[in-house]
Amino acid sequence: MKTEVVILGAGATGLTLAYELHKRKIPFALLETSSRTGGVIETHRENKFVFESGPNTLQLNRNEVGVLFEELGLQPVLPSENAKYRYILKNGRWCALPSSPLSLVTTRLFSVKDKLKLMVEPLRRSGHFENETLAATVVRRLGQSFLDYAIDPFVSGIYAGDPNELITRVAFPRLYNLEKNYGSFIRGAIHKKFDKTNIKHPMVTNKSITLSGGLETLIKTLEQKLPAKSIHRNIKLKRWKHNKNGLSIEWIENKRAHSLQTNHLVYCGSSARINDFLRTGALRGTELLSEPTTANVIQVSVGFHQWQGKKLDGFGLLAPSIERAGFLGVLFPSAIFSGRAPENGALLSFFFGGRRNPLDELESDTLVLKSVQKILAQHFETNKKPDLFRVFRYQGGIPQYDIGFDLIAQGIERLQNKFPGLHIKGNIRDGIGLPDRIVQAVQFAEQLAQST
Ligand SMILES: Cc1cc2nc3c(=O)[nH]c(=O)nc-3n(C[C@H](O)[C@H](O)[C@H](O)COP(=O)(O)OP(=O)(O)OC[C@H]3O[C@@H](n4cnc5c(N)ncnc54)[C@H](O)[C@@H]3O)c2cc1C
Repeated sequence: MKTEVVILGAGATGLTLAYELHKRKIPFALLETSSRTGGVIETHRENKFVFESGPNTLQLNRNEVGVLFEELGLQPVLPSENAKYRYILKNGRWCALPSSPLSLVTTRLFSVKDKLKLMVEPLRRSGHFENETLAATVVRRLGQSFLDYAIDPFVSGIYAGDPNELITRVAFPRLYNLEKNYGSFIRGAIHKKFDKTNIKHPMVTNKSITLSGGLETLIKTLEQKLPAKSIHRNIKLKRWKHNKNGLSIEWIENKRAHSLQTNHLVYCGSSARINDFLRTGALRGTELLSEPTTANVIQVSVGFHQWQGKKLDGFGLLAPSIERAGFLGVLFPSAIFSGRAPENGALLSFFFGGRRNPLDELESDTLVLKSVQKILAQHFETNKKPDLFRVFRYQGGIPQYDIGFDLIAQGIERLQNKFPGLHIKGNIRDGIGLPDRIVQAVQFAEQLAQST
């Protein structure tokens, strides 16, 4: 049996790619090792709460996402007005991240010296430091207090990462390009804002959205658009190899051996499992990639039928590493979107771990609960036991685009050259956010369409 494309992994990347190929009438098979599709995206309904594991929100800031949503008939659910308030922990107190020029002047998050430094940022000479870490970039252009109380918690919220490890060029290419192309972050941002050639899809917004029914609606909708027989779940990959007709792949499904011949084999699995996939390559000497740096994260959904703690009137609370608070952050999903908790109740999403916080003290769920209750008492003014408590553990969950990234990118290049038709996609490269995943899949489908 032959098909044009075989996709490995039915997370957001693999499913979007499958949809884009189907739309272009390119035959494909989608192979997934798990019994369910969606990868890390999952929406749960339990005990009158609706909660997410994996991503909680999606920033609808790319045209490709707007176009996809429109095609799929998906209407973004916008966050509440109050979600514009984001809190940062400083000296044990919640401090709102400035959302206007005036609040930037009055905030106690940043030092006076750095506020002045920010004002002259457009005049500062630009640097071209290819392998500069995010921490170094920010200190150079904005100052230490911006690193400590804005960028560090922001990076925890996205990568669960350490700004001293992440390379600005690969982890935050848009920021890097602002300095590279316009000489300054502020000048670049203003230029982009007024750039008339930058046509935006009407749905595009910088807000973090969800979908009616939660983010899993994206997964279900994509899946419904695909022929049922093209999706193979619960597969066990046996081996793949290159031959004179392209690539062949063998797997076990329902205790039976299956195989396919294909022109394109696309890996869209988790980055932490890339070398497991490469080990199933049957040619001798299949090169492994240097192991990607990843962050382990514990996410905890915590719900209360009656909330009696501190008022939750924002997006969430982030804990900068300098505060040594023992957690990365807490999102307030019931304050961001309606219908997440019973009336007068609350839903919180706690994040622990990341590159800077070992998880040794949170090995059991009992220890996690103890930690959650301590944080609730210390920072949320409540000693009540939660009515909902669910723990999700992500081993190697979030790839880090650090100094080893270029080595991995070169290794991928070599493998793709050695085995024509093999493509390594997914969040090992091109961004970890859901919009990045969608953009990568859309662009790659277009590239395949032009080559077939
Ligand atoms: C805890 C957490 C919170 C996050 N929060 C946000 C957020 O708020 N907003 C945001 O935009 N992004 C967020 N992200 C990032 C984003 O969710 C992920 O980058 C994105 O969902 C990854 O999608 P993917 O399809 O590339 O990979 P995955 O979701 O990892 O899916 C890969 C799939 O491939 C399968 N697979 C693996 N190996 C094989 C193989 N050899 N053969 C076949 N199948 C295979 C796996 O079973 C899995 O189903 C978060 C990530 C995590 C872990």
